Amino acid sequence: MNLLLEKDLTNFEELLQKVAEQGTAYFKNIDTEKTSLPVVNNMNKSLDNEGIGGLNTLKLFNKKFKDTIVASSGPRYLGYVVGGTTPAAVIGDWLTTIYDQNPQTTTAQGDVSVQIEQETIKLLLDLFHLPNNFLGGFVSGATMSNFTCLAVARQWVGKQEGKDFSKNGISSTIHVLSAVPHSSAIKSLSMLGMGSSNVTQIKIEEGNRESIDVNDLEQKIKALNNQPFILISSAGTVNSADFDNFEAISKLHKKFNFWWHIDGAFGAFAACSPKYKHLVKDWENADSITIDCHKWLNVPYDSAVFFVKEKHNLLQLETFQNSNAPYLGDPSKNFNYLNFLPENSRRLRALPAWFSLVAYGKDGYKDIVENSVKMAQTLEQFIIQNKELTLLTPTRLNNVCFSLSDKDKQGKTHIFITELNKEGKVYMTPTVYKNTKGIRASFVNWRTNEKDISIIISEIKRALKTIY
Ligand SMILES: *Cc1c(COP(=O)(O)O)cnc(C)c1O
Repeated sequence: MNLLLEKDLTNFEELLQKVAEQGTAYFKNIDTEKTSLPVVNNMNKSLDNEGIGGLNTLKLFNKKFKDTIVASSGPRYLGYVVGGTTPAAVIGDWLTTIYDQNPQTTTAQGDVSVQIEQETIKLLLDLFHLPNNFLGGFVSGATMSNFTCLAVARQWVGKQEGKDFSKNGISSTIHVLSAVPHSSAIKSLSMLGMGSSNVTQIKIEEGNRESIDVNDLEQKIKALNNQPFILISSAGTVNSADFDNFEAISKLHKKFNFWWHIDGAFGAFAACSPKYKHLVKDWENADSITIDCHKWLNVPYDSAVFFVKEKHNLLQLETFQNSNAPYLGDPSKNFNYLNFLPENSRRLRALPAWFSLVAYGKDGYKDIVENSVKMAQTLEQFIIQNKELTLLTPTRLNNVCFSLSDKDKQGKTHIFITELNKEGKVYMTPTVYKNTKGIRASFVNWRTNEKDISIIISEIKRALKTIY
């Protein structure tokens, strides 16, 4: 054994302790850490022949990188949709690394990791009040979850015409309908060879909405003349967290032949609260659902799940079959995740989610969701009362979307955001909502509290001074 490896093995406890101390300090004081920092570039492009061992590497990391890490998992990082990590999720994640399992098949002797993943899927279905007629698995993020669901949808479309697209390639146009799909669903269409520009745009509902106009959807369905198609619908659009009308879509789904996909990357968590679960009423009738775990579930990157109806299991196996490796077994006999999703080898992503779900239960997630929404509503109230700012959409759930009030100041939106983020106390991202330049704040972090909102509001007031 290499001497440095041998030494690190001997000193492993000390190494872990050092990281535990450093991690504790960061985790406890994250709300004083900066949410933005000047960009540094101190990249080393060559690797020495001789290593320096674990402890010195930790020292070097701390010297070189530690102070330039932004608190994106802290309570005032409101850009994009970025969650934090619960304490239980962190310990689950550490153990994922320590045990270093590769969840594949339940039949491998003594491998319990698949069981952990499947149990976690059941716990999640229960958390979201979804029925057990969905199967699911973990992938790296909602992009890959959309990809997975749409890949099975693609195979389904082929089947309707007696074709096997997975085996023989796509040999006809696949019709896709959507209103305000997430960019990653479009990216998935491109990766799947369905074409990112082959989306038929459904009208959106009137009245400052981003949801599907169901009448227009029905007309577009009729115009397809019974050709199979894929509907991509939203449980939470990124700007206004708007939801499609799943009750109405359910009725159409009974009447017409299509694959119904829901992207609920963060909006799915509405189901965790009795106050907001009406937003996803009847969503269980969908064929597939995408949900991110590294957002509102507050587990570390990279983690998301897909749910696909069990009745489509054969299509899913046809899509992801890894069958030309005899030592991996017969896919029709043994359940194996490598025949069920894009990746072959992967880490036990389910474990951090399992830890956090078990540690905090349904009530814990109800509290997290309701708190995030309350924080969003508090910020919304401030914006409504401030003349220099205008709400671009009502705050339906956890995302607050607003702009500078004066039309002739809106060109300075990026200056406002740069100023707002400069002190590193809050972080928001720019957006464009119905052709207006705006600012967006997304609340999904379990830690955010009233004190944070006061800091956020005083930072907004400070940044406004550079504009007005
Ligand atoms: C974040 C998000 C995605 C993409 O998720 P990643 O985890 O970044 O891959 C997809 N859809 C919606 C609605 C999202 O909010």
